[in-house]
Amino acid sequence: MIDRDLQGIGMTSRRTRERLAQRLRDQGVLNEDVLKVLVDTPRHIFIDEALSHRAYEDTALPIGFNQTISQPYIVARMTEQLLEAGPLAKVLEVGTGSGYQTAILAQLVDQVFSVERIRPLQEKARKRLQRLKLHNVMLRHTDGGMGWPDKAPFDGILVTAAPREVPKELLEQLAVGGRLVIPVGDEHQTLKRITRTSETEYETEVLESVRFVPLLGGTVR
Ligand code: SAM
Repeated sequence: MIDRDLQGIGMTSRRTRERLAQRLRDQGVLNEDVLKVLVDTPRHIFIDEALSHRAYEDTALPIGFNQTISQPYIVARMTEQLLEAGPLAKVLEVGTGSGYQTAILAQLVDQVFSVERIRPLQEKARKRLQRLKLHNVMLRHTDGGMGWPDKAPFDGILVTAAPREVPKELLEQLAVGGRLVIPVGDEHQTLKRITRTSETEYETEVLESVRFVPLLGGTVR
């Protein structure tokens, strides 16, 4: 759990986050463990100061390099979809971005491996996660379409940028019984949850329409 001192100035932002959590509950987010972690986690520190007054709006916000911190609703939804069948030990996140989704996952699973293709974003995220004393996170600067083969298999994989098609490397790096939550598509994207049911079989559920930045190849220094 994140230190109370780091949760926000006084209790003001905690109360604001409680209101945000209630709004997400009203929109259908059911997992109370996820909502509690959302209340404990100061989103304002994951955003540049000029925009931090908008941190508790339920909206995506720019974080530089044409990228965004995801909307709280989508962070909560994807996390609850990943965790639906129970707690997970080892999770891969593709697209660290601001580090906010990483911080949420780090409080709900044993170990988070998170990859980001834009080095300066990854470095900022690292500092924020250290500030929150979330030490069960390992970050890597790489093209996440390839996953993180050395650390595979993963019990869960959560992707925060949309490929046109599900990368086969990510499917291969799922443990049997593991779940991949991923936005897929171009103009029209859908959020999918893919469960590896055996060595060779996968089951796909289509969850809802979403709008994500594209999953791009290569890295930026
Ligand atoms: N969870 C993040 C957050 O809330 O801040 C989401 C950030 S943004 C919606 C998606 C991120 O995915 C961006 O930071 C982008 O650079 C990253 N990304 C896009 N393609 C990638 C790839 N192939 N490998 C790793 N990261 C990638």
